[in-house]
Amino acid sequence: MSDVWSGGCLCGEVRYRCAGEPISMGLCQCGRCQRQSGSAFLIATVFPREAVTFERNAPAIYTARHADGKCLYRHFCRECGSAIMITLDRYPEIRSMMGGTLDDTTRLKPSFSLWCSSAQSWLSLPPDIVQHAAYPDGLIA
Ligand SMILES: [Zn+2]
Ligand SMILES: [Zn+2]
Repeated sequence: MSDVWSGGCLCGEVRYRCAGEPISMGLCQCGRCQRQSGSAFLIATVFPREAVTFERNAPAIYTARHADGKCLYRHFCRECGSAIMITLDRYPEIRSMMGGTLDDTTRLKPSFSLWCSSAQSWLSLPPDIVQHAAYPDGLIA
């Protein structure tokens, strides 16, 4: 299996490569991720910051400032709007790549979900996905 995880947006304007293996793979079912994805959750494939390189254009950034003053950055293609990556002031050492943008999505194996407290009522996840009601302290995702 290749140790490079490549991906990109719908229109091809944004292309990226991640070297090595992801630190973690998880879902987020918070209301903001549902709204951004237009779906029931987003899939985060987490890599170290230095593992991720953009090959073409850098994505545009939507910045969300939280009550504590720390920001969460949602990176997206300025042409087609695809969600590409999330970065956080809280964990500057990681990059969360949106799983659906991978070229080979069969490599996705999410092991946990955040914010199950706001999950869609019709959705039940497989039992081997650890379900957190919120975002537990200490979890890097
Ligand atoms: Zn695009
Ligand atoms: Zn979320």
